[in-house]
Amino acid sequence: MSTRDRPSEAPAATSGPTVAIVGRPNVGKSTLFNRLAGRRLAIVHEQPGVTRDRLRAPVRWKGRLFWAVDTGGLVDLQPGADVGGAILRQAAAALEEAAVVLFVVDARAGLLPGDQTLARWLRRLGKPVLVVANKVDSTAVEPAVHEFAALGLGEILPVSAANGRNVGDLLDRVVERLEQAADAVPSLAAETPEAVRVAIVGRPNVGKSSLVNALVGHERVAVHEEAGTTRDAVDVSLEWEGRLVTLVDTAGIRRKARPGAADLEQLAVSRALAALQRCDVAVVVIDAAEGVTFQEARLAGRAASLGRAVVLAVNKWDLIGERAGRPERFTEEVQTAAARLYWAPVYYVSALRGWQVQALLEGAVAAADRRRQRLDPGQLRAVIDRAQAQHPPSGRGRRGVRIVGVRQLDGPPPTLALALRGAAQLPVPYLRYLERHLRRHFDLTGTPVLWVQGPDA
Ligand code: GDP
Ligand code: GDP
Repeated sequence: MSTRDRPSEAPAATSGPTVAIVGRPNVGKSTLFNRLAGRRLAIVHEQPGVTRDRLRAPVRWKGRLFWAVDTGGLVDLQPGADVGGAILRQAAAALEEAAVVLFVVDARAGLLPGDQTLARWLRRLGKPVLVVANKVDSTAVEPAVHEFAALGLGEILPVSAANGRNVGDLLDRVVERLEQAADAVPSLAAETPEAVRVAIVGRPNVGKSSLVNALVGHERVAVHEEAGTTRDAVDVSLEWEGRLVTLVDTAGIRRKARPGAADLEQLAVSRALAALQRCDVAVVVIDAAEGVTFQEARLAGRAASLGRAVVLAVNKWDLIGERAGRPERFTEEVQTAAARLYWAPVYYVSALRGWQVQALLEGAVAAADRRRQRLDPGQLRAVIDRAQAQHPPSGRGRRGVRIVGVRQLDGPPPTLALALRGAAQLPVPYLRYLERHLRRHFDLTGTPVLWVQGPDA
């Protein structure tokens, strides 16, 4: 907790490879960074103490995920200064961890001494370097690119960070180099933990936008907004412990209901239902002062029946904390109101004060991971056998229904197929019994479990 609460710390370790962008000031590094990050609207949260050299963004290209790191333009350009050395000192940490380096030069300015110095340093570094000749907005500028061959760093890729020209080719080359470097970077590809899509849902005024701001603001990097599948849905991604976390449809959250709209609450709820379709985990926000209403129970129930993980966030805890006494009492209340969701963890947060907001995010990511887990087949069978032995589904007579097999189908969420003998279906209360039993043996906090049943095949 301590490191992630301090925004000025060094970048968190990433589990995917990183690609560092270096170059003299004004060559277009940050423009390229934004282009790679797919950032449409700059939503860089200016936080004092957060220097540009720390900007990182997840980049997805052809099924690959890597992290672009903008090494920034903070170099103090004193006359006669060792520009290359200064840039490299500043970028040292980023270069250290980089699997591939993008060395950006300015095709319009031509080859400058600063580029030469930098090239010498980069050659010594011994990492794969791609020379990116930027500001090649059209073919007219292309001939100028050849002079950079003198840098001795191999092929030059002419691009325009500003208009996107050849950036796809550049990304292809980056991915190629990452694959070549895979031996040196064991965390590449398969081991990159999957991204987590989080929908923050709830009634108007429970504090959803405040929560988004608290999350995005806390993380240094509000990396990009991307157009979602719903028209004008805007997703915001951030980095969490080296994971890509996407908050889905923040536009729907931020957009305040128009005055005069007939049923504002209904409008917000239907928007939330759309967001649920696109998430791995739903954070259902509850106003601590109001408790759980029908709408929250409905949203959470819907999320679960769609197979999404569910985490409950009781917000505005600052208003009620002391008066309400211990949170456990409130938890009982919440769980009574949303009884079917006894497995959803409850977090007491204050978006306004930033209380427990990071814990909530951690809980959401953990719930998403449990939603993707594979249960050990042997243990699964043992648990179901024991449950059945303790409490058989029907009379012990010969005609009674028996579970004769159980296996997990491809998830998520964990989906269990029961093979039955004697009847086609088990009654729903019996499935609930099995599920409670299952949850005592496996950690399924936050994830629903789906059941499929049929005759023994
Ligand atoms: P940095 O200091 O290396 O991060 O450079 P910036 O990204 O801040 O860009 C420096 C200047 O170059 C800005 O005025 C950009 O608009 C401009 N620029 C960046 N990329 C391009 C490009 O592809 N074409 C043109 N014509 N200008 C660009
Ligand atoms: P949304 O409609 O769900 O996005 O809610 P907003 O984020 O706009 O918040 C609604 C109101 O609740 C605003 O006046 C916020 O300042 C306030 N609010 C949000 N979170 C908290 C909190 O943790 N504590 C307190 N006291 N007020 C909060």
